[in-house]
Amino acid sequence: MCWKRRSRIRQSVTSLIPEYKDSSDRMTDTNPSSGDAERDGPDHFIRTIIKDDLASARVNQVVTRFPPEPNGYLHIGHAKSIALNFGMASEFDGRCNLRFDDTNPVKEEIEYIEAIREDLDWLGLDRDGTALYTSDYFEQLYAWAENLIEAGHAYVDDLDADQIREHRGTLKEPGRNSPYRDRSVEENLDLFRRMRAGEFATGSKTLRAKIDMASGNINMRDPVLYRVLHASHPRTGDAWCIYPTYDFAHGQSDAIEGVTHSLCTLEFADHRPLYDWLIEHLPTPCKPKQYEFARLSLTHTVLSKRKLMQLVREGVVDGWDDPRMPTLRGLRRRGIPAAAIRDFARDIGVARADSVVDYGFLEFCTREILNKSALRRMAVLKPLKVVIENYPEGQSELLEAVNNPEDESAGTRQIEFSREIYIERDDYMDDPPKKFFRLGPGREVRLRYAYFVTCTDVIRDANGEVVELRCTYDPESRGGQSPDGRKVRGTLHWVNANRAGDAQVRRFEHLFLSENPGAADDLLAAVNPNSKTIIEAKIEPALAADPAFTQVQFERLGYFSVDPDTTADLPVFNEIVPLRDSWKKIQKSQG
Ligand code: ATP
Ligand code: MG
Repeated sequence: MCWKRRSRIRQSVTSLIPEYKDSSDRMTDTNPSSGDAERDGPDHFIRTIIKDDLASARVNQVVTRFPPEPNGYLHIGHAKSIALNFGMASEFDGRCNLRFDDTNPVKEEIEYIEAIREDLDWLGLDRDGTALYTSDYFEQLYAWAENLIEAGHAYVDDLDADQIREHRGTLKEPGRNSPYRDRSVEENLDLFRRMRAGEFATGSKTLRAKIDMASGNINMRDPVLYRVLHASHPRTGDAWCIYPTYDFAHGQSDAIEGVTHSLCTLEFADHRPLYDWLIEHLPTPCKPKQYEFARLSLTHTVLSKRKLMQLVREGVVDGWDDPRMPTLRGLRRRGIPAAAIRDFARDIGVARADSVVDYGFLEFCTREILNKSALRRMAVLKPLKVVIENYPEGQSELLEAVNNPEDESAGTRQIEFSREIYIERDDYMDDPPKKFFRLGPGREVRLRYAYFVTCTDVIRDANGEVVELRCTYDPESRGGQSPDGRKVRGTLHWVNANRAGDAQVRRFEHLFLSENPGAADDLLAAVNPNSKTIIEAKIEPALAADPAFTQVQFERLGYFSVDPDTTADLPVFNEIVPLRDSWKKIQKSQG
């Protein structure tokens, strides 16, 4: 699809939500570039910075990094950061490092490291598969901490966490110096070495940078660089009992790796002066720079590891890979192709102002991919039996059906037609309104790839519910061709009642009804009670038999994917996305 159309759609999707209109207008800082926009996505300020840096020779090779903390699973917000970091590196023939930011041994687990690597592999980026770890730099970081002490830029503090907080001051009031701030270099060095040696209890001492307790930026009020923590680390075991803070570890790890552009989300903007201060005061091999961009927010979901964890722990969802979760494994189980997530992450753009992207845009990207790749099959989600009275009993015939109208090479298949079939219950109405081009008493419709049928009778149960339809067919209309030029408006999907297989289909709605559930006081109360519906469906035999269907379009319904809960007896499908394109309609109605 041409870039301009994608860009229009992106704008219309984000402007669907009035209060977000402002920020969506600011989603990109500049117009689409004159470069290969189809491949690179919309232009943005980070690309401009990198181009300028290369032009002025501030850098020779672009090096970025993606630094997940291994304390949870990756979600679609991370995909934005991944796409940006790996995307910029690949666009400018540079390198992007995967670096696990594993400085907090208490919350981190090997399980997460493995899951993150697996999710990255699935996402399919241009990467060499290696992983780096901040914990591999602990020795160098420690040496640099000693450098700071020797230069009089850091001191060992005996205040505990609460006291440090009390001394820090507020946005309006300056902080107060710690009584331990003026220790001599010798005393600081001695104490720091003894911290490392394990002489002090957890939380009893810290190493702090000596900057300015009166700074207008609270991050510059003597930030903590190291803390005592007697905890086993997943990778370094018991080798350390002091651990660096994010602020100390991050920029210095960037420097060790030769990172040129350290791209992080806006909440770190206030940390940048500290990032620069540390780089300036240390003998690092290079001078990386930090740039901030807006994090992704998506309507009807939350993208905070803490909140996602809450959903898992409280049993609101069936796990991290629940198809309703915005985690990469959730989206993957849902059946959303990695390519759709890559397109989404690229096309939402990169800006300095926070914005919220409509979930509809992810659905749009998904349909774009699946429309081309998914085979078409027929499935009936709410079966209603139809008996074709003038079709001979015991007879059947094979009809030809197209596998994918978007891809001729996908070929055709044979489907069997006979006297008894199922259609969708919603495709019949006793008293249909004018524009209902489906079945009603006396009405004629086309059965996909088969015949014209006319409804002649309705069978009801004791409560008056329709339980079966009686129809006649026109033998001259084979293949759905009109025999005499008469027109039928509706075409229904169907399955052969005797041949159809059973399947469990899991249909999904948004996990949260409100657009911004993150703002809710009680997250669990905001959960949509109808976010998952399980139904028993009837499916074309070609679907039941073939395990190759990872993603398939059920004609007229939507895209579905095979769930790993599938057994030899019962295929299980997840609804990926319905065919109906609600926002496209809105777009049309807005002209
Ligand atoms: P959370 O707030 O959910 O705990 P985090 O930012 O702490 O997430 P990290 O593992 O530290 O999670 O994130 C790794 C990288 O991904 C960081 O550079 C972070 O800025 C980026 N990132 C995290 N969430 C988003 C998001 N919603 N949009 C864009 N980038 C994100
Ligand atoms: Mg983080």
